[in-house]
Amino acid sequence: MALKVCKFGGTSMADGHTMTKVKNIVESDPDRLYVVVSAPGKRFSGDTKVTDLLYKCYAEIMQHGDCKRAFADVRKRFEGIVKELNLDFDMASVLDATERRMEEERTEEFVASRGEYLAAIVMSQLLGAKFIDAEDVIFFDESGAFDDKKSYAAIAAAVDGKTRAVFPGFYGKGADGKIKTFSRGGSDISGAIVARAVGASVYENWTDVSGFLACDPRIVDSPKRIKTLSYKELRELSYMGANVLHSESIFPVRKANIPIVIKNTFRPEDDGTSILPIARYKPSGNIVTGIAGKKNFTVIFIEKSHMNSEIGFVRKVLSVLERYGIPVEHIPSGIDTMSVVVESDRMDNFKLEQILESIKAEVEPDFMRVSENIALIATVGHGMSSSVGTSARLFKALADEGVNVKLIDQGSSELNIIVGVRNDDMEKSIAAIYREFFGNN
Ligand code: ASP
Repeated sequence: MALKVCKFGGTSMADGHTMTKVKNIVESDPDRLYVVVSAPGKRFSGDTKVTDLLYKCYAEIMQHGDCKRAFADVRKRFEGIVKELNLDFDMASVLDATERRMEEERTEEFVASRGEYLAAIVMSQLLGAKFIDAEDVIFFDESGAFDDKKSYAAIAAAVDGKTRAVFPGFYGKGADGKIKTFSRGGSDISGAIVARAVGASVYENWTDVSGFLACDPRIVDSPKRIKTLSYKELRELSYMGANVLHSESIFPVRKANIPIVIKNTFRPEDDGTSILPIARYKPSGNIVTGIAGKKNFTVIFIEKSHMNSEIGFVRKVLSVLERYGIPVEHIPSGIDTMSVVVESDRMDNFKLEQILESIKAEVEPDFMRVSENIALIATVGHGMSSSVGTSARLFKALADEGVNVKLIDQGSSELNIIVGVRNDDMEKSIAAIYREFFGNN
C-alpha cells in the first residue's frame, strides 16, 4: 500500500460544497488514509477566513473578557457547514465548549487554532474517520521550536495504519502546556509532519490551483505550469513569494525523501506539480524553472578601503544586526564593499538610525548608503548551472526593459540569480525575465 497524507487548504474547506469535494477525493483512493485540514477559508472574494474571524475574537476577549459578538460569525460559519452537509452530531455543544475554553485560555494562539480544530472535527464526522487532536501529537520544545522526535513518535503511536484519521493543521502544544501555532499558512507544515511521522509515500497538498506556475499569473497572463520542482527550487521560489505552499513545509519531508504533490481540489484530474528530492528529480530541459519576487527590502551598502583584509569586518557588521534581532536575507559583497539586505518591515526608521550608528561605531566605514523600497527577484532553476550565458540573457532582458538593477546576488548553489530592483520595477522585470526564458507562451 502506498500510504498518502493529504492536506486540504482553506478554500477546499470553505463550505459544505467544497468539503464534499474533499470527501470524494479522499474516498476515491484507499491509500489516502490521513487527512490534515486548514480552517475554512474564503468562499468568495471579500469573504473573511475563519482564522481571521478568530483573531477578532481574541481582540474582543482582550477588550471585554468575552467574544460573544465575534464568535457569532464563527458559529454561523460552522453551523451552516454542518447543516449543508446534513451531519447528525451536536455541533452546537462543540461550539459552546470551544467558546468557553477560548475565554478561559485567553491566548492569541489558542484562539487562532480553533478554526483548524473545529474544521477537523467536522471533516472527521463527514468521513466517518478518527479525530486526532494536534495538541496530543504535535509538540514544541522550551525554545518554541518544533520537537520532531517527540511529535513523530506520538503521531506514529496514534495511528494504526488502517483506520482513516483527520488531524487539525496549524497548531500543537508548547513545552508550557499551552497551544502554540505555526506561522500563518502553517497547516502545510503540519501536513508535512504527519507525512514524515507515518512514513507516507507521498504528501499530497490540495489547494485551489493546479500546482506552481513559472511566475505570478497576475504579472504574466497564463504562465506555464511547472510539472516538477526539486525541494531546493521550491524553497527558493516559495521563500521569495510564490505562496502556493508554506516555505517551511519541506523540511520534515525532505529528510525522508517524501515527494510533495500540489493538487487542485476543484480540478482533481489535473496533474499538478510534483516536488521531488534531487535524486528523483529529472530536469525539465528548461534553463529556468520559475521566477518569483518579493517587495520591500532595505539595503545597507557599506564601503571601506581594504575591507577584504580587515579580519572580522563582516562579522562585526552582522553582529550589529544580530543585536537588534534583525534577520539578514542576503550579503552581496565586493573587495571593499558589502551590502546587507533585510526585510523593511523588520525595522522602523528609529531602529534603522540606531543600526547605522552602531555599524559606524563598530567598523568605521568610509561610506554608507541605505536604499529602501527594493524588490528582490529570484530566477531559479537547476538548469542554470550547466548553461552558458544565462545571466547575460537575464540582464539584457532587464536592460531592454529599462530596469536599473540595484543589486545582484548569484547564489553559491548556482541554483538562482537574485536581482534587486525598485519596488515599482518588479512586475515589469519579472515579465521581461519570463519572456526571455519562456517566450511569449
Ligand atoms: N488557518 C491558518 C491561516 O489562515 C493556517 C492555515 O491555513 O494553514 O493562516
